[in-house]
Amino acid sequence: MDQRLLMQIPKVDVLLAEEPLVRLEADFTHDQIKDAARSHLQSLREGVLAGELAEIDPPEKVAEAVARTLESRGAYSLRPVINATGVVLHTNLGRSPLGEAVAEHVAEVAAGYCNLEYNLERGERGSRYNHVERIICEITGAEAAMVVNNNAGAVFLMLNTLCKGQGVAVSRGEQVEIGGSFRVPEIMVQSGARLIEVGTTNKTHEADYARAIGEQGASALLKVHPSNFAMVGFTESVSVAQLSDLARDSGALVLYDMGSAPLFPNEVAGLDNQETIRGVLRDGADVVCFSGDKLAGSAQGGILVGRRDLIERIRANQLTRMLRIDKLSLAALEMTMQLCRDPRLARREVPVVRMLSMTADELRGRAEALDEAIAAIGGVEHEVVAVKDEPGGGSLPDVLLDGYAVSVTVAGLAPAELERRLREASTPIVARVSKEQVLLSARTIMDGDVERVCAALSEIAQVGGEEPPAGGAER
Ligand SMILES: *Cc1c(COP(=O)(O)O)cnc(C)c1O
Repeated sequence: MDQRLLMQIPKVDVLLAEEPLVRLEADFTHDQIKDAARSHLQSLREGVLAGELAEIDPPEKVAEAVARTLESRGAYSLRPVINATGVVLHTNLGRSPLGEAVAEHVAEVAAGYCNLEYNLERGERGSRYNHVERIICEITGAEAAMVVNNNAGAVFLMLNTLCKGQGVAVSRGEQVEIGGSFRVPEIMVQSGARLIEVGTTNKTHEADYARAIGEQGASALLKVHPSNFAMVGFTESVSVAQLSDLARDSGALVLYDMGSAPLFPNEVAGLDNQETIRGVLRDGADVVCFSGDKLAGSAQGGILVGRRDLIERIRANQLTRMLRIDKLSLAALEMTMQLCRDPRLARREVPVVRMLSMTADELRGRAEALDEAIAAIGGVEHEVVAVKDEPGGGSLPDVLLDGYAVSVTVAGLAPAELERRLREASTPIVARVSKEQVLLSARTIMDGDVERVCAALSEIAQVGGEEPPAGGAER
């Protein structure tokens, strides 16, 4: 046994003060780091005793090894964050959170086998699409429905199946780009449909579509929800009802990419005067598609509803296989839709519905509760302020929601620096910086998040304007 080597093994305190481990305190608790350090030191000791180690690295190198182990084992690249931005369907933060009960159901389905493509009554092969068709039809009034991986895929399949090699009229005011990669004209080219541009950027009239049918042989009229922008001033577009009147004689199809549409009744979340899926189907749209994780409040998916013969053709397209929805999204979708049948349940259990339907009074109460919790930790200046929140997700570009936030300040930290430190907390907090204020919006901070927000603020306030301590004794 080499006594000299054993003596060279660093003490836990020394190791914890090394930079690689101090750095980890943004992502791990002190105890997690200490445990990892201890067990690494133990294995070094055993290595020496077994005569397997000829030398011991300097403390900094040992700390690096501990950090590597901890990082690879404990931290994920994809992890939960706290959304304090007030943007309900935040495109960069995973859009729609699932309700707790829905998440539990998904976990249950995920943890074992399920009847994804098995007909339990007959004991034979079934279809994954059968699990949700009936309920989608019930909610939307559609004749038939199916679901694919996402809405961009739904649009592509709809065009590829129904319009390949044929002309499709789209208003110049609706040839939009969504989320940086979904561009309507490019999707059309890829699908094999021929784009017939009609109208101008701000105004498109019925006569423009009529000419596309009569003179350019359009076999379908496609409407696209402009999603992430709103036009004001002298604008004109043609409604689904007008389009279907126009299309009737020629037999052209009326297709509509709604992007974001709710599965719950609009009044539930105060979205009155918004178009509904039921409404556009009643007005004569042949196929309508929309996302599962925007206003639908569920998991990623592209939902297609409409005429049975057309939906069946889309289902039979070979490419559908490449865009098929997975079992976890299906489980989330089915349960979310069941909850949406009952407005009370939807408000309680579907976070998107809950957040959109919160009244200003309710939000002020939530902000005040957060404010009080922050007051209790000390070291943070705080104030409840009125803010405008956004539905987000390109769902309602012209809607701003009255809300409340807590504005927070820590002495010695510029707003941008405080924003950064919140983002680096062990559960990252994404805040909004507006007019030199760091705002924590009460609408999107979920009930269970308040404690973690306070813990992060408390840590930031303790460290204050200085750099985190680089060393010191074991805490
Ligand atoms: C969001 C959106 C899409 C893309 O939907 P994904 O679910 O992100 O694939 C397509 N069209 C419109 C109008 C949209 O708003």
